[in-house]
Amino acid sequence: MEIAGLIPNSTVDFPKVLAAVVFTRGCNMNCFYCHNRKLLNPCAPLIPNEEVFGFLYKRQNLIDGLVITGGEPTLQEDLKSFIAEVKALNYKIKLDTNGSKPEVVQDLLESNLLDYVAVDYKAPWARYEEICAYSEVGNIEKTFKILQESGIAWEARTTVIPHITPQEYLNMCKKAEQFPRYVMNKYRIPEDFLLEDKLRLNMPPYSLDELKNIRLLVKEAQKNICLDN
Ligand code: SF4
Repeated sequence: MEIAGLIPNSTVDFPKVLAAVVFTRGCNMNCFYCHNRKLLNPCAPLIPNEEVFGFLYKRQNLIDGLVITGGEPTLQEDLKSFIAEVKALNYKIKLDTNGSKPEVVQDLLESNLLDYVAVDYKAPWARYEEICAYSEVGNIEKTFKILQESGIAWEARTTVIPHITPQEYLNMCKKAEQFPRYVMNKYRIPEDFLLEDKLRLNMPPYSLDELKNIRLLVKEAQKNICLDN
C-alpha cells in the first residue's frame, strides 16, 4: 500500500472508536479545495508498510481501530490484503472513500473487511466535474446503493462550500437516498492549492450560523443529519 501519512491516534475520525489514521497516496479526483493536496503528488514520500505494521502491532492494546483515508484508498491494488492483515491484529476498519470505486467497496464488504464507511457527497451531480474534476457520478450513486443494501454502519459527508447554494444542497439531499448518518462539514480555505483555483478559493466561506441554517434546511430531506458537529 502506498501510505504517505499516519496519525497515531484520533478520537474524531471513527465514530465511537479510538483509532489511528493512515493516508494513501494518489486520487482520481482533483477537488479545488482539497486539504490533502500533497497526497495527490505521485512523488509524495511513502512510509514503508513494515513501519506501519510495526506501529499497529505495538499499539494493539491502546487503540481499537484504523481509519484508511487519502487520497483515495480504493485505488490501491493491495488494499484488500492490507486490510485483512490489519484485521488479523484485531483492529476495526473505517474506510473513507470518494465513492468512485463501487466494485472495490462491494468486494471488501462481501469479505467482511469493513466496520464503517464514510463516502463523500461533494456536489450536485451536474457540478461534480467543475468542483472535483470527475464526471462518472454513476459510480458514486452505485456506492451509496451498495452500502445501503449492505446493512453496514456508514455515513455520507459533505464539505459545505460557498460555491453551492443552500437550495442546491437541499436538492442534492432530496435526490439521494436516506443516509443512515449525514455529516455536513465546515469548509476551510486550504493552504496548498493550484494557482488556477486562486480566484474561486477567495470566496468567503459560509459563517457558522449560515452553516447551521443549511443543516436545518437539509434536515427536511435527510433526517439523520448531524446538527451538533
Ligand atoms: S477526493 Fe479527497 S483527496 Fe481526492 S482531490 Fe478530492 S478532497 Fe482531495
